[in-house]
Amino acid sequence: LICLSAGTCWYLFRTMFKVDLHTHSSLSRDGGLTKKQYKSILDNAVLDFVAITDHNETKFARELQQELGEKIIIGEEIRSVDGEIVGLYLTKTIQQGLSAEDTILQIHNEGGLVYIPHPFERGRYSLQESKLKEIIGDVDIIEVFNGRGFLRGKQDDALQFGEGNGIAMASSSDAHCIQGIGTAFSIVSQIPKKSNLSSLLKKGRAQKKYAPFYSYFCPSVNRIKNSIFLSKND
Ligand SMILES: [Zn+2]
Repeated sequence: LICLSAGTCWYLFRTMFKVDLHTHSSLSRDGGLTKKQYKSILDNAVLDFVAITDHNETKFARELQQELGEKIIIGEEIRSVDGEIVGLYLTKTIQQGLSAEDTILQIHNEGGLVYIPHPFERGRYSLQESKLKEIIGDVDIIEVFNGRGFLRGKQDDALQFGEGNGIAMASSSDAHCIQGIGTAFSIVSQIPKKSNLSSLLKKGRAQKKYAPFYSYFCPSVNRIKNSIFLSKND
């Protein structure tokens, strides 16, 4: 038995890790999870690894990874002109407002993975089929279940597209508050890393349950809360 550092020995016996690749911190105007909440999610094994994918920002994720280590994956939900694209395992913030192709190029230049959130959806700012077909060779992971996708989600289309193209698929919460965590995630058999995440997801499993309905309102509630808070500080 080799322990790399205190507390990591038990990993060696495990064959199941719960990973959520799409969550939002209190840094986003519509985000919500605090550092304390992320810490308790990991401490209580609600999740084993969690990506923080704030809108066009990586500051919160970078800071928390410094504190909590590899269990925090630095991500960003980047607004491209063609729809939102998530970069995972980033080291810095990727510029928004570029084409899908240029956004992907930047993510790969940073050594990150390209993850497509809520594909085909009309209500949210999502990549549509024609664009996805053009860039599919550069996509690492496609989201086939979104915890806040009840009614608006195109889960069947995403699943069909992912399977048809042999891409790694993930189920994620897209949580904007603590109530949204722990119902949608992916289960992989080894500690996920940048180098093995896609292949682990291909043989992994997905937990697909929608978050409680009231948690759907978290982004709007947070936006109002934050605008009051921010305006006080202007
Ligand atoms: Zn999101």
